[in-house]
Amino acid sequence: MNKIEHIGIAVKDLKASNVIFEKLFGQPPYKEEEVESEGVKTSFFMNGPNKIELLEATKEDSPIAKFIEKKGEGIHHIAFDVTDIVAEIERLKSEGFVVLNEQLKKGADNKLVAFLHPKTTNGVLVELCQEIN
Ligand code: ZN
Repeated sequence: MNKIEHIGIAVKDLKASNVIFEKLFGQPPYKEEEVESEGVKTSFFMNGPNKIELLEATKEDSPIAKFIEKKGEGIHHIAFDVTDIVAEIERLKSEGFVVLNEQLKKGADNKLVAFLHPKTTNGVLVELCQEIN
């Protein structure tokens, strides 16, 4: 696993949160993108070398809607950059981690992604992401 690729934050209202994070970082999001399969709208901010992803649910059964219902707004996941996501999933499974989607998904920002179940990672939802070339 390489560096933290981004931190994902669940928000109720992407527009309103964009305003807050634009003030925080002193610049607007560099990208907004809807991932229909996941039921989310996202925006991405760069702050120095660090990337923050904001996620708003676009439907009631979206994982983000369920997360906010249970825990409220806040940090939703930490994403790590990986060089070979298939090999990394195999390695993590052999270490006892539960992979939520063995079928790789196309995530936002041109990435192949997989998630580890938080019950096996001390309550932290971990996203693995590999840049699509
Ligand atoms: Zn993410």
